[in-house]
Amino acid sequence: MTRKEAFVIGSPISHSLSPAIFAFLANRQQVTDLEYKARDVSIEALPDFIEEIKLNQNFVGSNVTIPHKEAIIPYLDQVSAEVQAIGAANVIQKKGSLLLGYNTDVYGILQTLQGQACFVAGARVLILGAGGAARALAYALGLKGAKQVDFINRDLKRAQALIDKMASLFPRTEFRALSQEDGSRDKTPIILMINATPLGLSLKDELHSKAYFRDICRNRGFTFIKNAHAFDLIYKPEKTVFLASAQREGFQPISGLAMLVGQALQTWQIWFGLLEGVSSLQSDLLDYLRNQPLYLTGFMGVGKSTVGAALAKILGWQFIDIDALIVQEVGMSISDLFQQKGENYFRDLEFKMILKYAFYPRVVVALGGGALTYAPSRDCIRKAGQLVYLSANMETLLGRLAKEPGQRPILGAGFSDLAIDDKRLRLMTLFKAREGAYNKLADLKVVTDDLTPEEIAQQIVQNL
Ligand code: NDP
Repeated sequence: MTRKEAFVIGSPISHSLSPAIFAFLANRQQVTDLEYKARDVSIEALPDFIEEIKLNQNFVGSNVTIPHKEAIIPYLDQVSAEVQAIGAANVIQKKGSLLLGYNTDVYGILQTLQGQACFVAGARVLILGAGGAARALAYALGLKGAKQVDFINRDLKRAQALIDKMASLFPRTEFRALSQEDGSRDKTPIILMINATPLGLSLKDELHSKAYFRDICRNRGFTFIKNAHAFDLIYKPEKTVFLASAQREGFQPISGLAMLVGQALQTWQIWFGLLEGVSSLQSDLLDYLRNQPLYLTGFMGVGKSTVGAALAKILGWQFIDIDALIVQEVGMSISDLFQQKGENYFRDLEFKMILKYAFYPRVVVALGGGALTYAPSRDCIRKAGQLVYLSANMETLLGRLAKEPGQRPILGAGFSDLAIDDKRLRLMTLFKAREGAYNKLADLKVVTDDLTPEEIAQQIVQNL
């Protein structure tokens, strides 16, 4: 089977949610031949990436994020009306030998506003920021016939350039750049305020952002309708400083996550055609992104199953023990399965079990200690959710394993009969081989030696 390849490119890219989104969509649409990967492509490496995808027969398309949304346009053979107007492309598609450019942020914005019953036709909207996302907002609001769109930006010239462009496209809408003090001059009530700056993204600027947003809501003299909407394009965390400040002032919050999902659904439609049941897919995907699976990894004997059950209880989520599922499936112990079918067979079965539960919300999954050694399982886990590494020192593990009645097949025959020093050596050798992957891949590491399962679970809840 020829695989289709797609990417999200940007720099940095490691925290992108796109691999999880497209893995979820492929799973729900039963597309098994799509390989979607995050690629860190620097500004200097963009020309080489373009050459590579032109030659790649399997390449379907790519999502494009900072810093390439504008820089990629000269490499494209055709661009949509949105890209021409906004000057930024966030999706490319390969059609024959041609590279086509789209901007699906506009669709994401329109879908989100419609989903929240926020109707802008004939109304006044306030936008904070005048960068690439603000241009997509201005375009979407112009399309919907907003009466007045005001921008507040540090760099007024940048806002003015945006306005000049949009005014020529949408003569019915009045676009204005306001200086920081302008609020009180116009008493037309605002129905929607949008944060299109990265303010609040970093904890460093939390105090400054809180003061900035409070100032706009209260002190600049703007008039807002009762229950006006506040829309933050930032989607992680979902409850941003901007939304929290606005909610305190009585605004109805709209999260950037819905926009991210909306633009991704349109990307899928561009690459693969119409999606069945878009609206339920959209709400399922949102639910999934808010409640992605939590995976527990760590060496054998560390307590993944006990902690997993405690964690699931605290969260009210479903608990899944991959080893227990395998035993249930094959009707024999893991030890017998290893002996009769070998490790490769076991790893493949383990991967199928991991995949089966990867794209459901609200599940806690206890993994076998060697799951991360198998590339398909590792990739699936990294895309699907967050990984917690439960660590313990060797003496703790040795003490626990010595008390276990059953066999650990991976430790080899006769482990239980070995002298303590030989046991330690065998454990240490295997641990050293696995520890690198645990540390490298985990989103969170919890040292478990002196904690009860409930305390470990509480630590996970507090830190993720
Ligand atoms: P740009 O870099 O193009 O623009 C950033 C804007 O924010 C500029 O107007 C800039 O002002 C302003 N800004 C930056 N820092 C500050 C600050 N400290 N105080 C006040 N204003 C500031 O970024 P984008 O427009 O592409 O993205 C903006 C936000 O939208 C990002 O957080 C991004 O993650 C999010 N986004 C979300 C999407 C989604 O699907 N939910 C899609 C696209 C973007 P100046 O011009 O004065 O420098």
